[in-house]
Amino acid sequence: MDPLQLFRDISQHPADYARQWKTRTGGKVVGNFCSYTPQELIVAAGALPYRILGSGADISRADSYLQAYCCSLVRGSLEDALAGRLEFLDGAVFPHTCDSIQRLSDIWRMNTGFGFHADIILPVKLDTESAVDYMVSVLRRFRQDLEKGLGVTLTDARLADAIRICNQVRQLLATLYELRRTRPGVIGGSDLHAVFRAALVMDRVELAEALATLVDQLAAAPQSQDESTKRIVFSGGLCSMPDIYRVVEEAGGRVVWDDFCTGARYFEGLVDETREPIQALTERYRERVVCPAKHAGIYNRGTYLLEKVKENRADGVIFLFLKFCDPHGFDYPYMKAMLDKEGIPSIMFEIEDQLSSEGQLRTRCEAFLEMI
Ligand code: SF4
Ligand code: SF4
Repeated sequence: MDPLQLFRDISQHPADYARQWKTRTGGKVVGNFCSYTPQELIVAAGALPYRILGSGADISRADSYLQAYCCSLVRGSLEDALAGRLEFLDGAVFPHTCDSIQRLSDIWRMNTGFGFHADIILPVKLDTESAVDYMVSVLRRFRQDLEKGLGVTLTDARLADAIRICNQVRQLLATLYELRRTRPGVIGGSDLHAVFRAALVMDRVELAEALATLVDQLAAAPQSQDESTKRIVFSGGLCSMPDIYRVVEEAGGRVVWDDFCTGARYFEGLVDETREPIQALTERYRERVVCPAKHAGIYNRGTYLLEKVKENRADGVIFLFLKFCDPHGFDYPYMKAMLDKEGIPSIMFEIEDQLSSEGQLRTRCEAFLEMI
């Protein structure tokens, strides 16, 4: 099957993919909410790490448990769980990042009835010496939780295999981004969106194979004529990821990089395969670019964004936040100020999970791209 078609199909029906995977393999599916979930441990336990992104269905049941000012990802995911749309899950994992995800963990544990439930309480400050020992102990504890909760033995050999396959996936996604960066027309924004959405739920071995085929196909594709459009970098906190790429393309731009947890932050930095596995996982978390719910220096995220803008010769930055996302909202003023100082145009959009205000977004996007 054409790998792009496979990614498109899975991105449209991720839950169906998980159900079929379960029937096919007899394995367990572990839901998770964040790029700080150590997916390698879940893979090593023989389970499928399934990123819960919310189906976009109307929210009613979740409103009995969550305030209306929680982001649409958190409310939508709880709605899906309460409505029985995530019945294939054998459990879920909650890394402690933003307040909303932390509180969702408690509500989920008490009201959804999935078997396995784990909190991964990583430190907030990642750049201290004591953070290393602490993170190692948290990951070891999670390993034990998985063994007990899923009834498996998680050996070092299986963990080494899982680290290897997850690294392969990261490298292939990075190659895809590199192809898109140097030849922006090589893959359409919607297709890249589909690849990522599917990558977050697919069996990692199947994913690596499909990505390798796709990368080979794209590398061999003829050069696109459409290389002179405005180059845009996205920045923000789309823990869930609507197809915003299409909106930018239709307004005459091309996204050449992003700073999303469901984008570049997901694949940047490899786990060192030569080190003791848990130490190596810890080290990657310390070194990867942080999300605003973590801390690794006051200007860390702004400095990273400036680097990416320059490296990718971007004409402007579009900040995208889910409505009511406080962590990203808090970082925005200083990041914008850093861009302003360098004369880099930017604009900020607050959106809901399902692009309900797409018309307005399109108009503002067109105006921004005309202006830069
Ligand atoms: S912004 Fe990224 S790191 Fe933070 S909660 Fe969302 S997925 Fe996790
Ligand atoms: S979008 Fe923001 S508030 Fe919502 S889960 Fe992600 S970090 Fe938390």
